[in-house]
Amino acid sequence: MGCNHKYDFSEAVRQFEDGIVPPRCETCGGILRPDVVLFEDPMSSDYYRALEALEGCELLMVVGSSLQVYPVADMPYLARQMVIINKEPTPFDSRAAVTAHCKAGEFFEELASILKL
Ligand SMILES: [Zn+2]
Repeated sequence: MGCNHKYDFSEAVRQFEDGIVPPRCETCGGILRPDVVLFEDPMSSDYYRALEALEGCELLMVVGSSLQVYPVADMPYLARQMVIINKEPTPFDSRAAVTAHCKAGEFFEELASILKL
C-alpha cells in the first residue's frame, strides 16, 4: 500500500505462513494488499476503460463474476450480446447467449482443446 511494488500472491502466503501478519512489503515495509477493488475503494481507471470499451462492444465475455456487486453488475446492461462463464448461476444468465457453469480455467482448457490451440 506504500510504494505500489507488486508481489506474487505466493509471497503473501509465504509471509503469512512465517507468522508475518499482515504481510509486509520488503521494499518500504508497508502492508501488502490484493490488487483488486475492495469495498469502499475508489473505482480504478480500469473500470472506466472497461466502460469505454463497452461502447459499441458486440460481445461481452464475463469470466468468474457473480455479477452481483455494483457498479460492475451494471455492465451487462451495456452489452449487446454476452457469454457468462462462472461457477455459479448469475442474475444475467437468462440474458446471455451462452452460459457455462464451471471453473474458467477448465472452460478455456476445453475451448483450446476444441480449437486445437
Ligand atoms: Zn512497498
